[in-house]
Amino acid sequence: MENFHVEVIELDSSGGKLYPVLLWDQEDVILIDTGLPETLQQLIKKIEELGFPISSITKVILTHQDLDHMGNANYFEPFDTKIYASKIDTPYINGSKELLKFNVLKNKSNRTEIEDEIYQVIKKNMAKSHVDIDFELSEKNDEIIFEKIQVINTPGHTPGHISIYLPAEKVLIAGDAITISETGIQPPDINFCSDFNAAMESYKKIMNTDFNQIISYHDGKFMF
Ligand SMILES: [Zn+2]
Repeated sequence: MENFHVEVIELDSSGGKLYPVLLWDQEDVILIDTGLPETLQQLIKKIEELGFPISSITKVILTHQDLDHMGNANYFEPFDTKIYASKIDTPYINGSKELLKFNVLKNKSNRTEIEDEIYQVIKKNMAKSHVDIDFELSEKNDEIIFEKIQVINTPGHTPGHISIYLPAEKVLIAGDAITISETGIQPPDINFCSDFNAAMESYKKIMNTDFNQIISYHDGKFMF
């Protein structure tokens, strides 16, 4: 079986760099996470520069419900693109439940400056960013959906956060389940976790996975 080509896409957003990933083989062109609405044109341009018209994307996989990840997923709705997310985060992504970060920040009386910035961005974009999920993922049924992709449940940053593992390529796309600094791979920031204990368990699970390359959505790629 042919291995995936793996390309990390770099987007500049008002909140810093974002790193969606594009995977392709002969059958599929798969985008993992989609950026903030404000980065849509950059995303389209970078994907086209890799040789793919946007309409050729077959699958979009969302690691979780946060706006900087799902923000442009509904752009793909008119195309023949299937959209995937975890069963747990799906109701937030499709709008049946209020996005968790929005809910938390809305009810916080003393938002810091940065928290207020995040709150305003979510508030402004939330309603127009909801998207219907075609397939709900979980570790148990993922092999029915994907042949060469393993879904790893990595809750903690959000309850339904998933990571994407490519066993043949030994690549782990960890979304926001890790951060990468000069000292190496770290657990996510406690301030951005819905459940930090779960996030620590997920971090251990990730570190026990056999990868040569790991990609953090906000910090880019780390190779061994
Ligand atoms: Zn994020």
